[in-house]
Amino acid sequence: MARYTLGVDVGGTKIRTGLLGTRGRVFHAQKFSLNQRNKRSVLNSIIKSIKSTFIKHEVASIGIGITGLVDHRKGVVEASPNLPRSWKKVPLKKIVERLFRVPVRVDNDAHCFALGAAHTGSGKKYPVVMALTLGTGIGAGLVINGRLYRGKCDVTEFGHTMVADRSPRCSCGHVGHLEALVSGQAMSALYRQFTGRRLNTFAIEALAKRGPSAARRTIATMSHYLAIGLANAIHAYNPDLLVIGGGLSRISLLTRPAIKKARTLLVYPRLKQTKIIVVKNLAEANVAGAALICSHT
Ligand SMILES: [Zn+2]
Repeated sequence: MARYTLGVDVGGTKIRTGLLGTRGRVFHAQKFSLNQRNKRSVLNSIIKSIKSTFIKHEVASIGIGITGLVDHRKGVVEASPNLPRSWKKVPLKKIVERLFRVPVRVDNDAHCFALGAAHTGSGKKYPVVMALTLGTGIGAGLVINGRLYRGKCDVTEFGHTMVADRSPRCSCGHVGHLEALVSGQAMSALYRQFTGRRLNTFAIEALAKRGPSAARRTIATMSHYLAIGLANAIHAYNPDLLVIGGGLSRISLLTRPAIKKARTLLVYPRLKQTKIIVVKNLAEANVAGAALICSHT
């Protein structure tokens, strides 16, 4: 009898896969590059990565986490900001099911990360886990008693909550949103506001580590608004655990002061009982989470 669920985490440049066994550990983990050239090349990269990990008669189902707007009921990726523009309304579930002949689920990667964080590592101990992913944009997911909270229309957009009157323009077109002040896009836009120069996030991070500079100021600004975002999340949901993930979570200059400051913004001392952590094994949480959407949504 098939025993495993295959988890597939599709990022902007990489795909990670792994098998999730009954005890909740990811094994046979693999990493593949994603060919961004066009819609077809992205799809081929995903299929190739699944083929490499797929073990016939052993894999019972496949869960795919992908950045962007996903109709999880139909398994259709409506749009994805990190993939080519032609990647729109892609019926990923149908395509993969036809090829591999096992049930497939597709969901937004932040939802997957939240499930992974709630079901692996220290997250297992807590009934209410909220996750924030700091990447190109901001993703969020809330897991209550092991299951994702999806809201009435399956759209919860914590990244577009207002935290300021002014900011660089958000990906949605508005200003003042958390995502416009704490994300990869925000990092480049804020640095450009301060210096007039364009730099990518890695270069800004490297400059900030060297000492006081516009890059350091950029990250300090983001950290200030991240603190507000974390405090807002705790005030709104009072989770047991708040987990920070995503590519930018590696920047301790960003996360460490934000976690400290968020605690000072909470109105009641008992709200400080919410534990805030940066996830240690990001790749594992993402892949496990992608696999978990097959059984926990
Ligand atoms: Zn927005």
